Amino acid sequence: MKKHIFSTSACLFFIASGIWLLMTSWSSPYSSLRRADCTHPYADYMPGANDPIKYIRLNFIFLQNEEGQGNFEADNPKHQAYLKHLIQIMNEQFARPSRYSCYKGDCPNVKDTGLRVKVQQIYLKHTGWDNDGNNCKTGCANLAVCDFYLNELDEQIRQESQEAAINVFFTNSKSSYERMSEGECEAPMSRTSCSMFPQKDMKLNTKIHMVDVYLDYLHKSLDCPREMFPENTNEEYINWGKMEGAKFIRHELGHAIGLGHVSCPDNLMKAPGIFQQALNPLQIGRMHYCLETMNVKKYVQNGGE
Ligand SMILES: [Zn+2]
Repeated sequence: MKKHIFSTSACLFFIASGIWLLMTSWSSPYSSLRRADCTHPYADYMPGANDPIKYIRLNFIFLQNEEGQGNFEADNPKHQAYLKHLIQIMNEQFARPSRYSCYKGDCPNVKDTGLRVKVQQIYLKHTGWDNDGNNCKTGCANLAVCDFYLNELDEQIRQESQEAAINVFFTNSKSSYERMSEGECEAPMSRTSCSMFPQKDMKLNTKIHMVDVYLDYLHKSLDCPREMFPENTNEEYINWGKMEGAKFIRHELGHAIGLGHVSCPDNLMKAPGIFQQALNPLQIGRMHYCLETMNVKKYVQNGGE
């Protein structure tokens, strides 16, 4: 599946880059600056110093129970501070240079990925807040091809939205939430979220399903016994969870804008297992290529906040 998508996209690349060269080599003063001097398959798309930052519009959709709980809350200052910082961390990571992680090509590292996220938060009381039986392991895992249980809601939100955005749904396990609300530390949480790859069909919409992110926050807030960082304060522990949350969302977003898995442990797209934050020049070129030529193009705003 992954391979199929990649080869289709690679074909598109040759067609698209041909057109791009024809159209811009005579008209754009930046074309020679922009094209990286290397044999990168996406060299024409790698961000140059003069290119505007691409802002990717995301809707963070927090589904809550009837009481407005079971997830982050709009009027809870602690929750809001947490989310604000989490989004800031995502953008700080996107502002970092590329690294040679799972990359043996001849392109120099870029100083900045040239990408940022612009997030709008939406809070909804909805029965789908409970992901039991519908998380990325027990329900739909590839949101492009299987029947995601929030598809109808996704459509409704799009109809009511002014601007196209990637919908990122945050849901939690009801049974674990109830157990944690009673102070139980052993309630299970899923670490598996899911996403989809970019599509050629511009009409298709991109969604991401983030599973049990709030439960992770709640668990760390409970001050449960912990194996990792037992010496750190509870606040530091929550902060660490926030950085992990930002990384998980960036990983799923990486899929949504064109990246598959790699094997280097320091890479953002390493899977399965533990992963870190690095993106290599190939991955960055690939994301820009998808954001300029595939359905995810409609979520991009060039420059500005
Ligand atoms: Zn993944």
